[in-house]
Amino acid sequence: MKVVQIPKAGADFELVERQIPAPGSGHVRIRVQACGVCHSDMVTKDGLFPGISYPRVPGHEVAGVIDEVGAGVKDWKKGERVGVGWHGGQDGTCPECRRGDFANCANVKICGISYDGGYQEFMIAPIDALARMPESLDPVEAAPLMCAGITTFNALRRSGALPSDLVAIQGIGGLGHLAVQFAKKFGYRVAAISRGLENAALAKKLGADLYIDSNVSGKSMSALVGGLGANGTLLVVGASMDPIEVPPIELILGRKRIQGWSAGIPTDSEDTLRFAEMTGIRPMIEKYPLMKAAEGYARMMSGKAEFRVVLTI
Ligand SMILES: [Zn+2]
Ligand SMILES: [Zn+2]
Repeated sequence: MKVVQIPKAGADFELVERQIPAPGSGHVRIRVQACGVCHSDMVTKDGLFPGISYPRVPGHEVAGVIDEVGAGVKDWKKGERVGVGWHGGQDGTCPECRRGDFANCANVKICGISYDGGYQEFMIAPIDALARMPESLDPVEAAPLMCAGITTFNALRRSGALPSDLVAIQGIGGLGHLAVQFAKKFGYRVAAISRGLENAALAKKLGADLYIDSNVSGKSMSALVGGLGANGTLLVVGASMDPIEVPPIELILGRKRIQGWSAGIPTDSEDTLRFAEMTGIRPMIEKYPLMKAAEGYARMMSGKAEFRVVLTI
């Protein structure tokens, strides 16, 4: 099979041939149909995760079909359509898992970091990483929903915002263009914040009620706190390295919050996929064949892709 791997931290992508692996106990083999290219793939590319070993195959926006099941796998069948996202499995025994909080597992496995991800023709995944995928979704469109989709869907639905509340989305990019669509379908009043009037039409097309043309740096989230209403929450999903700086009084008056949010567990992915199927929400994508993974990754890193890059396999 064809595999795109990173041979060592910081090295270029490398296209290699490998034997098709057999799934072990509690695992399945997936014939990968599509894999999204996420900004977090740089963690694998550049060796930013403690303990990551090489060679490693990146990719945590995987859509495919179960091709073989390992010993002891009963509830997943050959031919079933599945996705794998960032959450690549939990230990089931740490204090967080014992409380049922698998997303915060102390020993969480991450697809494409802890084990090989979706930049390849076949991948092995533990069953606790699998999400069932609705029949009607095109795998190429479903792939980005496994990270960009679940992250925005789950953050918004857990945000505490209720129908008719005003929700502002900063940036119409890989995450933002999905967040605007989800927010609208959740029944919020949606403001899209971006730069330049040329983005106003796009914001409207995605469902925004209001467009705010801001020349505040897209990287700087600090300025957004001033826009929060009473009991408002700044929900942070973009992993920028810039610090957020807020005078405490701005949080105290009006009891405002700043909260981080990471993607979610496979059942959250299933909810995301089902909701996308129900409502017609789809990512906007640019396709690259697996062989051109390096080009697709460079396009994603350039920030110019509209809006998710997906490898077709
Ligand atoms: Zn991601
Ligand atoms: Zn755990």
